[in-house]
Amino acid sequence: MKPVVALVGRPNVGKSTLFNRLTKSRDAIVADYAGLTRDRHYGQGRLGRREFIVVDTGGFEPTAETGIYHEMAKQTRQAVAEADVVLFVVDARAGISAQDHEIASYLRRLGKPCLLVANKAEGMHDGLQLADFYELGLGEVHAVSAAHGQGVRSVIEAALDQI
Ligand code: GDP
Ligand code: MG
Repeated sequence: MKPVVALVGRPNVGKSTLFNRLTKSRDAIVADYAGLTRDRHYGQGRLGRREFIVVDTGGFEPTAETGIYHEMAKQTRQAVAEADVVLFVVDARAGISAQDHEIASYLRRLGKPCLLVANKAEGMHDGLQLADFYELGLGEVHAVSAAHGQGVRSVIEAALDQI
């Protein structure tokens, strides 16, 4: 069985861009519209000889009780349940949001291997900008730029090493 890596995080942080980078496909829908990927979406990734499955998800709203956000939350929980390791993606430029805190607390309670990925970090040399994210209580902050491919290999390597 190939390990399964789930990408979770609030809408618009760059999960689908990261998915495309990891799977080198154009399959996941990437758009400037928040939360466009409403469903789970699977792709194949490879790091050297190690193959893995990547699961993209819609934006996560853990407390949503109705409608499309409820469905997205359900899909995300299922994706997380299936995963061997979770990449929790946050937006390095936007900083921490209340939603990020909610997702972090959900993931901490879950106790599954989870890496915190600060995306959109291209051109950010200031460690201070990322220091805030340690507040989420998920350990090391992995700075990446999915759009530019920076840090992506090293974060997937770290993720696969946790399994
Ligand atoms: P998702 O909703 O989390 O799946 O986010 P998307 O992958 O659809 O990306 C949302 C927006 O962020 C799009 O406009 C992307 O082009 C942009 N984006 C994604 N990755 C990066 C990145 O590494 N740097 C920058 N600056 N923008 C990014
Ligand atoms: Mg998406």
